[in-house]
Amino acid sequence: MQPEAPHHPAGVDSDDPRFFMQLALDEAKKCVPSQTAFSVGAVLVDSTVRPHKILATGFSRELEGNTHAEEVCFTKLMREASSPRDGIEYTLYTTMEPCSERLSGKKPCVDRILEFGSISIVYVGCQEPSTFVAENTATLKLAEQGIRYLPVDGMSSECRDVATRGH
Ligand SMILES: [Zn+2]
Repeated sequence: MQPEAPHHPAGVDSDDPRFFMQLALDEAKKCVPSQTAFSVGAVLVDSTVRPHKILATGFSRELEGNTHAEEVCFTKLMREASSPRDGIEYTLYTTMEPCSERLSGKKPCVDRILEFGSISIVYVGCQEPSTFVAENTATLKLAEQGIRYLPVDGMSSECRDVATRGH
């Protein structure tokens, strides 16, 4: 099922990264707080069209199996299409930088982003605190593959507050 096109509040450019990061933050707020994990929201956008089109949304633990927000976005999109479609340039918004290591041994989100392909920009709300993993190497891994990694100004403290709910 396609998420409904969001209502763009007056005065907000629909291609403004803050608009989509706010939607990702709204997703993060749906997470059931966890003492042992972060509460993150993500939005996957088709940035080849104007206005940009939301293709999938996700939040931590939304799907079964201790899922991460980015992972949920990919899973939902793959349910509709077996692979990323040619010619689409995807932009991913996530309230916290994608994980580069998971204590559970599951595939880190940064590797899922690289495997998905066609993602040209990852917007990030805040850095991953070193609560569970000492050093997040996602920035480096994405940069090595030519994927732009951009912070969204002014939203990091709220993203961090929501991410650490239940801690
Ligand atoms: Zn992750």
